[in-house]
Amino acid sequence: MKSLNMKKILIICMVAGLGLQSCSDREKVDRSLQEQSMLAVLFAQTSPEYAANNIQTYKMAAANIDKALKDKSWTAALEQKGNFDNKPTAIILDVDETVLDNSAFQARAIINGFSYPTGWIEWGNEANAPAVAGVKEFLNYADSKGVSIFYVTNRVAELKKATKDNIIKLGLPFDQSINPLMMKGENSWGSDKTSRRQLISEDYRIILMAGDQITDFISLEESAVSIQKRLELSNKYSEEWGTKWFMITNPMYGKWEGAIYNNVYPSSQDKAKQLRLQALDPK
Ligand SMILES: [Mg+2]
Repeated sequence: MKSLNMKKILIICMVAGLGLQSCSDREKVDRSLQEQSMLAVLFAQTSPEYAANNIQTYKMAAANIDKALKDKSWTAALEQKGNFDNKPTAIILDVDETVLDNSAFQARAIINGFSYPTGWIEWGNEANAPAVAGVKEFLNYADSKGVSIFYVTNRVAELKKATKDNIIKLGLPFDQSINPLMMKGENSWGSDKTSRRQLISEDYRIILMAGDQITDFISLEESAVSIQKRLELSNKYSEEWGTKWFMITNPMYGKWEGAIYNNVYPSSQDKAKQLRLQALDPK
């Protein structure tokens, strides 16, 4: 039995790339909450189904760029007001799990038994996240059509340089002349992206948006509601999905998880597990 345990520890050490001593210490860490995310992270990291879904989303987005350019009354932003017919065009993308794939950070969290934000700044500063499948082709297409590209992210301002470096390293369009990367914490911007969308809409006709959270399209206030009311939002905006708004599936994390806890994250892991279990619908 003892040798079996040792074997198990050795395997985990190898997987996590750790020395035996530090790995042995980590064996004592309770990873049971983080391990509930394992299949979601494996889906993102290993399945062609996930990649294919993203490719098809971005292909559909590219096709709608053409439609939007022809129709000057077309706007994708609820914040767009007044006369915008002759404004130059822009698209807005979220960054995490929309442009940059941070599933490696999620994998580290499971292996090491930690939760965001632990390790997040270090991961961001590595500036080494790969691109979400299909996004590069989509952005290059939008760029070739003269559409300005804005990255509106809730990454903290501290990560601005690393995020910019990461995007440029991937060969994605980044027009330095328009300051295309808008971080949380800059210019007193909070988590709600409404004010950033509104600012962009003053100078541009926003023709399309992409994200992995419903707050990448609507206000934080409208989305911070019960599970049932959040589900209703998908119908409320059914005209926008697939034409003006493009959602990347993120099974790993998001505001949807917060809704399971009535939008107040529990103070204990046991409570989180209990609320998750209670949210399952067996009927
Ligand atoms: Mg995101």
